Amino acid sequence: MTVAVVNPATEEPIAELEQAGVEETDAAVARASRAFPAWRGVAPLDRARLLRRLASLVEDNSEELAQIESRNVGKPIAGARGEVGMVAEVFHFYAGAVDKHHGQTIPVAGGVDMTFREPLGVVGLIVPWNFPLNIASWKLGPALACGNTVVLKPAELTPLSALRLAELCLEAGFPEGVVNVVVGKGTVVGQRLVEHPDVAKIGFTGSTEVGREVMRGAAGTIKRVTLELGGKSANVVFADADLERAAAAAPYAVFDNAGQDCCARSRILVEASVLDDFADLLVKATAAVKVGDPESEATEMGPLISASHRESVGSFLDGAEVLFRGDAPDGPGYWFPCTLVHASNDDRVAREEVFGPVAALIPFADEADAIRIANDTPYGLSGSIWTRDGARALRVARALETGVLAINSNSSVRVSTPFGGMKQSGFGRELGLHGLDGYSEVKNVYYATEG
Ligand code: NDP
Repeated sequence: MTVAVVNPATEEPIAELEQAGVEETDAAVARASRAFPAWRGVAPLDRARLLRRLASLVEDNSEELAQIESRNVGKPIAGARGEVGMVAEVFHFYAGAVDKHHGQTIPVAGGVDMTFREPLGVVGLIVPWNFPLNIASWKLGPALACGNTVVLKPAELTPLSALRLAELCLEAGFPEGVVNVVVGKGTVVGQRLVEHPDVAKIGFTGSTEVGREVMRGAAGTIKRVTLELGGKSANVVFADADLERAAAAAPYAVFDNAGQDCCARSRILVEASVLDDFADLLVKATAAVKVGDPESEATEMGPLISASHRESVGSFLDGAEVLFRGDAPDGPGYWFPCTLVHASNDDRVAREEVFGPVAALIPFADEADAIRIANDTPYGLSGSIWTRDGARALRVARALETGVLAINSNSSVRVSTPFGGMKQSGFGRELGLHGLDGYSEVKNVYYATEG
């Protein structure tokens, strides 16, 4: 069966792809299994050389990759270029990390004790549609650096950049079978990878709901899992913050990627004494976000991914007290305007992940109240704190139950620093040297030297 891949900004098909089933998935796992023994034996610096070559090929083909990602996801082209730049950096980083992932020697009686970092085997990588190439690279880089072979399953809606990346892997010289891409449904290809006895680990990014399915499915074979799931992050603005700076940044913390971002700070918590002033500044900054044609260099926000997703995002406005609704093209395309609502933390818009350009403005009374509200969510992925009081910033940062935080900034993701969630946002860390831990197993070896 073939399925059309659609440009969400035009609703026009841009490719027609054959969908893999269980049989094709099993064949990819078999190819990866056959490739594993030789691949794990490749000298570390040769693995590094291949990753470095892949990084260079991503750079050489960056405009093409950005165009693919922009057309398939509806991303503004300038943002897509930035994302492809990060993909190359990720492969450079893990190329450099290959021979720096050391074991230890541990003092024990009667001998020498040492640890080794062993690859896991075949790993299944399941990625979502919001940052297809980026998130794939966060998993591929460390998986390959550690000596695993890989079966990558992109989201059915956005498979094109992963297919191009697979070609670049072959061009870089990765041996046949080391990197495999299988295009098909999550409930077919994804589920088969999760349950397959020859897959040692699943690196998953997606919704918390499907994350639960992955955990359940992985239990059958005691598979390792890393789960990067949903979020409902808080942007906490204290009265002593640089309000103009915080308000200028806040829209980009929610409306980047049209709000289809697990790190979106979709709850804007504002100290009550400055709520009105901050709301005025925020409306002004939100009205300035340039929404429209992803191909235009000036565009900052494109459409949502699909018609059904637009319907789901719209449902969050039922009964909501809307503070601001921006402009968006009429269509074709799955457009949705930047929207600000007043809310309490008990409202649905503040409790569930909207995954669209909708932000809830929520007042708080004081520092303790801000911490209480920010933590009153099942999620714990990211967040920001805006204040001029450095001690308060660190106090609040330590108190928030979230894996990634920024002080006086929106930043969530950097190549060399760990990224991942607490609570129902998942577990395990990607990126940085921590990313290697999820794709290797510690083996302990004792060598008796006496007796
Ligand atoms: P989904 O959870 O629906 O899908 C994620 C991936 O899982 C897709 O490749 C999907 O395939 C696949 N999948 C679906 N069902 C199964 C299954 N039963 N077994 C195995 N795999 C399956 O999420 P979305 O793609 O809709 O992405 C949006 C969600 O992802 C949001 O909730 C967002 O917060 C979260 N996310 C989290 C991130 C993080 O780092 N924490 C980053 C990005 C997104 P297919 O789509 O082809 O059916």
